[in-house]
Amino acid sequence: MNKLVIPNYNREPHYGVKLAPHTTWKIGGPAKIFVTPRTKEELTSVASFARINSIPLFVIGNGSNILIDDQGYEGIVVSLQGSFSEISVINREYIKAGAACLLPNLAISARKNHLSKFEFMIGIPGTVGGGIACNAGIGGVNGPSVSDILEAITAFDLRSSSIYTVSANEMHFSYRYSEVNKNNIIVIDAVFKGSTASYESIKKREREILKNRQIKFPLYQATAGSVFKQPEGGKPAGWYIDNAGLKGYKIGGAEISKKHANWIINDGTATSRDVMELIKLAQETVFSKYGVHLEREVIFLPQDRDYSSEI
Ligand SMILES: Cc1cc2nc3c(=O)[nH]c(=O)nc-3n(C[C@H](O)[C@H](O)[C@H](O)COP(=O)(O)OP(=O)(O)OC[C@H]3O[C@@H](n4cnc5c(N)ncnc54)[C@H](O)[C@@H]3O)c2cc1C
Repeated sequence: MNKLVIPNYNREPHYGVKLAPHTTWKIGGPAKIFVTPRTKEELTSVASFARINSIPLFVIGNGSNILIDDQGYEGIVVSLQGSFSEISVINREYIKAGAACLLPNLAISARKNHLSKFEFMIGIPGTVGGGIACNAGIGGVNGPSVSDILEAITAFDLRSSSIYTVSANEMHFSYRYSEVNKNNIIVIDAVFKGSTASYESIKKREREILKNRQIKFPLYQATAGSVFKQPEGGKPAGWYIDNAGLKGYKIGGAEISKKHANWIINDGTATSRDVMELIKLAQETVFSKYGVHLEREVIFLPQDRDYSSEI
């Protein structure tokens, strides 16, 4: 492939980078181009380059909520690094965190600064950017989620390369949903508001959360967490899948976890097709048995996200 030069991007872009290691499912073919901007200036160069050359662009966080096709992605995958991982406390109650900062690190930082309300993040292996895009949270529809404590984000507009602030209530969050990706913006950083509490009480709550997660979920296997959202007004998605008799069901190297039916495990050999077929099978079986539609929480790349069509 002819090497492309991205003006003002200070390092060599990488070509044909395998994406599987950049995801928790460990599935996914190569990205045509993989870049790791460390500053706003580098991000601006990459975005302008993508726009001018009509190359689709996808921003990846920790890859913990995506299924990437084995064919890979015919575009630029952006992984924010460097200054995008910084965390700082503002006026005791607020924390500003870069989009690439991991949610558990944000929770730890909040605890060290005696700020509660971040505890739910302790076991979610995503970044601040991915957490906002997916409105990550725990405990189903009624549990705490990122939008509950988010005040505002700094957004990078992919269409214009402009940078502006968006307040949380302008973003129309709902359960595991935000308008971030729809609006063609990349989250650069975000401000969250906590409330003062003792270090010990925060630590205690985090321990309870982690213990509960260890009991419920197959945490030490290659997964992307919950595959489906909790259906409206109904029981949890895992209940339907379990009662439809699908626990432990396998297609190729993908298996519906015996521990939690809403999680799909890659045994190390699963293809993206195996996982997609298992997802389809769960949806069809649950619908035919209960009349309930299971909506996916995990994102398919490239199927669900392709900024190029809108730039
Ligand atoms: C073991 C395990 C446990 C999990 N537990 C939970 C849980 O309890 N609750 C929960 O809600 N989720 C959970 N998840 C799913 C996942 O961790 C969350 O959805 C997380 O918020 C995804 O963040 P990420 O950085 O990995 O995003 P990615 O998977 O990399 O990307 C997801 C989406 O976010 C977008 N995105 C990423 N960064 C940015 C950015 N800077 N700007 C704009 N868009 C961006 C991507 O383009 C993509 O559309 C779990 C996953 C695993 C593997």
